[in-house]
Amino acid sequence: MVMSACSPAEDSAIAPIESINSNTDAIDLIIAGDYIVTMDENDNVIRHGAVAVDGGLIIDIGPASEINSRYNANGHLPGNNRIVMPGLINGHSHAAMTLLRGVADDLALMDWLNNYIFPAEVEFVDPEFVRIGTELACWEMIRGGTTTFVDMYYYPDIVAQVVESCGLRAFVSATVIGQRSPDAEGATDSIEKGLAFIDNWKDRNSRITPIFGPHANYTLNEEQLKATRAAANDAGVPISIHMSESPFELEYSKQTFGMTSIEMFESIGFLDGPTIGAHVVWPTEEEIRILAERRIGVIHNPTSNMKIASGISPVTDMLQAGVLVGLGTDGAASNNDLDMWEEMRLAAFLQKVDKMDPEVMSASTVLNMATSGGADAIGIRDKVGALIVGMRADVIQVSFDDVHFVPTYDVISHLVYVADEQDVASVTVDGKLLMRDGEFLTIDTERVRREATALASRIQTALAERNQ
Ligand SMILES: [Zn+2]
Repeated sequence: MVMSACSPAEDSAIAPIESINSNTDAIDLIIAGDYIVTMDENDNVIRHGAVAVDGGLIIDIGPASEINSRYNANGHLPGNNRIVMPGLINGHSHAAMTLLRGVADDLALMDWLNNYIFPAEVEFVDPEFVRIGTELACWEMIRGGTTTFVDMYYYPDIVAQVVESCGLRAFVSATVIGQRSPDAEGATDSIEKGLAFIDNWKDRNSRITPIFGPHANYTLNEEQLKATRAAANDAGVPISIHMSESPFELEYSKQTFGMTSIEMFESIGFLDGPTIGAHVVWPTEEEIRILAERRIGVIHNPTSNMKIASGISPVTDMLQAGVLVGLGTDGAASNNDLDMWEEMRLAAFLQKVDKMDPEVMSASTVLNMATSGGADAIGIRDKVGALIVGMRADVIQVSFDDVHFVPTYDVISHLVYVADEQDVASVTVDGKLLMRDGEFLTIDTERVRREATALASRIQTALAERNQ
């Protein structure tokens, strides 16, 4: 639905004018745009609109003329050639792996993991690596308009500290894996450390949700998976896990457990609690039914699935069955960037070519998966993912200045089929500006660039020596 603010009569007739703050004191921020893409339940789009922000919340939304006359604001983001929309939700990432971007490409998942990524991680990943890599990832995600991400990596305390200082919103996993890892001796040790991390961060910062991230059912046995679920439920936090990702996992699961992954998770009670399942490329019909019934948040990672040749996730079938599906980038070592605009485009294209039907997934469906649908998949739809009065002010402006937006017939089509991370103009999380006109306000990008480059050159030297 498109609402127009072109004539006053239309404004008063259809614009949603509600306000939860009617005092005359200056509010924090007014964010204007030629179009306000709300992603609310009616998919309202407001022409020449504005979003009023105060105390971290969206307090009003409507035609710019009305918002400007109603409020004095300390900050203004002008709306000429700007599209205002909810920030993007990256439902699956391994942020610090930005430092392994391009270190090993063009390999199968298990070869890539066992012969390159796991050994490189054991050798190089320490708190310093995680700090620099996560800062690099946050810089890139802010650049691209991502405002919430779900992360799975090591040294979660460091990840959470970086998220706290850069201003993003995140679910930060304490990773649990059966083998020795950079921050633990095995599953029991990582669960214990994870509980301490969760205790440290629960209720500390409303932008940061500490969770458990058991890696997968091919890196953890049944007892370890059960113990992780029990610990997560005791701590009252969700779980994020890789689920039904590759043909290897499918085969491993059948041979080891006598059933496919999601059936196996269900059979041991692992799905008894909030769960975010990354990938879900190979679910059976019965498993799709389980995912819908259990309200598992499935995160589709099209670039990673294509690059590692994991397969094509049956996203259309899952959506039809009522499964909650969001989008993610996976780590930058298997992508190799954190550009959610590319994920949207590829999610649509993959379904179209897979079903040989261009109508099977629309631009608005994938835009929903990257915003309010993604928020639903990770369990925070009441807070973010749409521009609605009372929700947290996680708002981005996309610039339509670049040549590839000329002409503009359909703003939703352009957001999905044209825009990329370089088109994002401003990023606000919890009402606080993180980027304005391409300027980063919470990250010293030159320092991060310097530190990342220096660390990568140490990794490159060590890998060259190891492979001699
Ligand atoms: Zn992953």
